[in-house]
Amino acid sequence: MTTQPMQVSGRSFSVVGAGKSGLAAANLLARHGGDVLLVEERDMPRPEPLDARVAFRSGSNQIRPGDLAVLSPGIAEVSPVRAEIASQASEVIGEVELFYRLCPAPILAITGTDGKSTVTTMVGDIMRAAGRPTFVGGNLGNPLCDDLDTLTPDHVVVAEISCFQLTTCRDFRPRVAIVTNIAEDHTDYHGSFERYQAAKRLVWRAMTEDDVLILNGDDPFIATWELPSRPRLRTFSLSSPDAAARALGDDARLEVRAPSGERSYIMMRSELPLLGRHNVQNALAAAQMAVDFGVSPEVVREALMAYRPLAHRLATIGTFDGVTWVDDSKATSPNAATAGLLAMQTPTVLIAGGSSKDADFRPFAEVMRQRTRAVVCFGATRHQIAAALGSDHPHAVVETLAEAVEAAAGFARPGDTVLLSPACASFDQFKGYAHRGEVFTSLVRARSAP
Ligand code: ADP
Repeated sequence: MTTQPMQVSGRSFSVVGAGKSGLAAANLLARHGGDVLLVEERDMPRPEPLDARVAFRSGSNQIRPGDLAVLSPGIAEVSPVRAEIASQASEVIGEVELFYRLCPAPILAITGTDGKSTVTTMVGDIMRAAGRPTFVGGNLGNPLCDDLDTLTPDHVVVAEISCFQLTTCRDFRPRVAIVTNIAEDHTDYHGSFERYQAAKRLVWRAMTEDDVLILNGDDPFIATWELPSRPRLRTFSLSSPDAAARALGDDARLEVRAPSGERSYIMMRSELPLLGRHNVQNALAAAQMAVDFGVSPEVVREALMAYRPLAHRLATIGTFDGVTWVDDSKATSPNAATAGLLAMQTPTVLIAGGSSKDADFRPFAEVMRQRTRAVVCFGATRHQIAAALGSDHPHAVVETLAEAVEAAAGFARPGDTVLLSPACASFDQFKGYAHRGEVFTSLVRARSAP
């Protein structure tokens, strides 16, 4: 919560990038009396819905010199465009920072490589179950700025924040923040893995000793971080008895540490209605965040028991001729796809591939060899994945998802699972991961229809 909301009325802003968050920022600034120019590099007509008071220019990223610039998260940290804008603007911020500067409600922030949406929606469900007016948004798909005017000091904002968004934050101060985990991802955007990790660490830059930072205690990369003296730190872990939130052993008790220091029981692992160890970690992180924000363990338990997986995250489509088909299209990195594979309880045929994010598939290849009956490689990265896998493991290389579904059905035996955990982005053949998951689901249903 900012003590003094930023002055907007009468000030001049250039918003760069007419994507969802750029439109949300431009509209918000116009509603609050700012003088706003929205610029978009691509040639395009005036986007909708754009407030009539916003001036719009396409075909260049040229801002008005001296303006406060609100930058789209799509502009890479290492891009020359970003440096150019920074040299002309009075200040460069992003849509999340803008939201923070105007938001009357406390913010809980979730960042990390994988599990952000899952943890964010878990925390959102818990806050609603606790009876608190709750707004859930951010990188999840609905820009925070869209809903700012509906928020009051009584609300709590549960915000999924990407590392792209963190690179344009400065004063952003969540009351409680989570870093779910760190794995190599988006190297194309940040320029290096070290810079990617540094972006994640920006989440605590403005947090104070009154705030709480919750970190994954099992993460080898986070273990190497130099941690701040403020905010207060907590960890969650599947192996360390000292962690604030922990679940030790196979059918473990999920426990968190209350602000009083006492340990509180949440549930047995078998009661969590989600597949995979990674979801136990997600639940621990969400539970610890909620308890640190004053929610009782009983309410946390109730909300987690009722939680259901989000679409395209290990969502079971159905079992046809004895073969279960699972849509994990949101697994767009090798780390996420590894979590998907490790969650499978039966022999598995994996479908993987898509557009490249410059990932290294070699560690993933080891997991694929150990955990799959066969792998079907498709899309732009199909040859890279096949090469990492090696010729001695059963696999097929095909171009389209339709061919991949047929090839997977050929490998699968009754009792098996066919899992789409692509380990890659989807933009080679689809509009996004959701589109890819929908196409997969329709293909599976169509071939299984009586
Ligand atoms: P994000 O919003 O960070 O992309 P999601 O909750 O949407 O994360 O999950 C995306 C994918 O990542 C899922 O399909 C799942 O396979 C995998 N995943 C989810 N949680 C974790 C985790 N804690 N660790 C590793 N992988 C995970």
